[in-house]
Parts: sequence; structure tokens; C-alpha cells
Amino acid sequence: MPVEQALQQLLDMAEATPIREHDVQPLAECDGRVLAQDLVSTLDLPPWPNSAMDGYALRLSDWTGEPLPVSQRIFAGQAPQPLAAGTCARIFTGAPVPEGADCVEMQENAVVHADDRVSFTERLRAGQNIRPQGQETTVGELVLNAGTRLGPIELGLAASLGHDCLSVVRRVRVAVLSTGDELIEPGLPLGPGQIYNSNRRVLCSWLVRMGCEVIDAGILPDDLEKTRTRLASLGSVDLILSTGGVSVGEADFLGIALREEGELALWKLAIKPGKPLTFGHFRGVPVIGLPGNTASTLVTFALLARPYLLRRQGVQDVAPLRFDVPVGFVWPQPGNRREYLRGRIEQGRAIIYRNQSSGVLRSAAWAEGFVEVLEGTTLDIGDRVNFIPLSEVLN
Ligand code: AMP
Ligand code: MG
Repeated sequence: MPVEQALQQLLDMAEATPIREHDVQPLAECDGRVLAQDLVSTLDLPPWPNSAMDGYALRLSDWTGEPLPVSQRIFAGQAPQPLAAGTCARIFTGAPVPEGADCVEMQENAVVHADDRVSFTERLRAGQNIRPQGQETTVGELVLNAGTRLGPIELGLAASLGHDCLSVVRRVRVAVLSTGDELIEPGLPLGPGQIYNSNRRVLCSWLVRMGCEVIDAGILPDDLEKTRTRLASLGSVDLILSTGGVSVGEADFLGIALREEGELALWKLAIKPGKPLTFGHFRGVPVIGLPGNTASTLVTFALLARPYLLRRQGVQDVAPLRFDVPVGFVWPQPGNRREYLRGRIEQGRAIIYRNQSSGVLRSAAWAEGFVEVLEGTTLDIGDRVNFIPLSEVLN
């Protein structure tokens, strides 16, 4: 199955089970969350014309070349008097421009004479150095759509409009399960045949960054009965996200449990790393089973599970930015799966980590992004590919 098709199916499923509950949260709690209601401005911002400079405000028609007396001083935070005819006002950045003034000249172009009157050395233009009322937004304007992912910039915008709280989609509850008899948790001594569980850390930390509520469901042994009981014990979560045990191997107990008590789709994706992916539900709870190899987990989470989780919260724009870049490496063998090579940009060209094994997480630690190599393509130095920065997906 091509990657786009799998993604489209996941997004369709996400839209069929949207998370509608929302709650009002203080801005400090909203980072990474999704806005539940359109944010419409109830203010003009700025609320009044203000000075972009430290300098002098005047009425252009009063300036004839004769020095002007200074009739008031206006600091940011003060309410000025209307400008007296034939005078100018000392004004500072962010201060309201007094009624009657139509121009601000910066202090560097002003000369203060011995009698404290001021003249100007440069030609003046109407409106110069004045930030007009409503240049950021005006009353009634739609500022942020429902479904917008909130980050520092959006939260700053909401704050600038006077909001101390926003209505956000409730956190998605995701249970993370690591399957595999070979897994033990870091901190314990490693026995024969064992490896440390790293996917759990990758996914739990990533999900927290995404604003999800994480239910860390620990390690699940490769055992059908234990799989059933563990799945049943997870209760009311929005998604069960597991890793491992989805290759059509003998230890695919997740698949068996889903088939028995829910529904299962087993996809062989045309993606590398990360061919096998399980999607289904267990007693009505959606389940995504990612492949267990660390780089496969990473790539399939970034490109499939993450957009699914965002869409469930109503985010429309779930595709990461891709940048068209030339490659600085040769790719002689065309593949039949789309490859997401862990790469970097060096001197304007994409280069890739020396070992692209699906079990090597260091490739991604070294990388700045994924180099997308389409099915059936070979690459020469200078050929162009899509580059997806990790920063686009790690949030
Ligand atoms: P599986 O999909 O269960 O066949 O696992 C594929 C490979 O990924 C095997 O080499 C597993 O040992 C490894 N693996 C599976 N789960 C994890 C995990 N949570 N942390 C690290 N490696 C894992
Ligand atoms: Mg396994």
C-alpha cells in the first residue's frame, strides 16, 4: 500500500471519530493543544495609532521650516492631549499619537534649539513612523481558526487580544504499549537475549510534546492471553499505540487479539523503514500497531500516527513541510518502497547517515530530517528530493 493511501485511510478514520470535548484552559496550559473555537478579535490592535519611533509628532502642514515649540511629552502608557496647533509633541515608541498629528519624525533627524524649539533636517511624509490603529487586527476579524495547533506564536497572539484562557480540544489519551519478550526497561541489568526498551521512551516523550495525555502501559510479553487482558485493562483511551509484533510473524498476538475482539487491517506499506503496520480496534478502541525496529517506529509515527492524532483533534493541516533540495549523495538502486533516509543538509545538499538500517536510532539522532526517495528512483549528485525537517514533526 502506498504511503499516501495509508495516510488517507488513517485520516478518514480519524475524521470518523473526532474528539469533540473541549475545555477552557489558561494560556499557560494551551501550548501544543488545538484550538476548539474560532478566535475572533474583539479589539482593534493596536487600539490607537502609535509611534514607531522615539521622536516628535506633528501636523505636517504646521512644518514650514520654522522651528516648532514642544507642547507635550507622551510616553508609552499615557493618554495624550490633542496636539495644539503650531506645535509638536515629544513622543516615545509605543505611545499614542495625539489627535491632530499625522507624522512622527525620529529624534535623530531633529534639532533641538537653545529655546527648546525643534526643527527637522529631512523631508517629512504624512503618516511616517505611525503604526495605524488596527494594523495587526480589527474588531470582528477571524484571527485563528478552530483546529489551529497552538504554539508560542498563537498564544502570544491570543494574549495580545486580551485572552487569558482559550477553549481547547481535550487532550488525546494515548496508551503506549511496547510488545516483545526481549524487552526490559533501562536501569535493570541486561539478561541474555534481552534489549532495552527504547520505543517506549521515544513515543511517550513525543506524545507529551504533542500535548497528549500518555498512559504508559509498559511492556507486553509475546503472549496471546496477556495481550488480551492488557488491552482490556486499558479502558477508555482514544488510541492504543503499540510497537513491535506486527510483522506477520508467529508472535503477532496483537493482530490475533484484534481479530477476535474487534477489527484488524494489516498493511504492508510501501515505506522503508517500516513496512508492516496494524490498524484496527479492540472493543471499539482504535489501535495502531507500529513496527518495532526503532527507526521504523520513528518514521511511521512521524508520517502516519502523528497526522492521525492531530486530525482526531480537528487539525486540518497535518502534512509536514517538505523542502525541495539537491542531494549530495548517489542512490544507485531503485527501491520498490518509498524511503525515508535519515539525513542532514550540508552546504545546501542533503547527505545521509552511513547506516540506514531500520534498527539504528542513531541515524535519526544524527539527522536533521528525512530525505524522501520515491519508489523506483535513482539519484545522482545534484538531483532533487524532498527533505522533511525533523523539527516539523517532533512537536
Ligand atoms: P517486531 O516488530 O516485534 O518483530 O520487532 C522488530 C525489531 O525491533 C526486533 O529486533 C525487536 O527486538 C525490536 N524492537 C521491538 N520493540 C522494541 C522496543 N520497544 N525497543 C527497542 N527495540 C524494539
Ligand atoms: Mg516483537
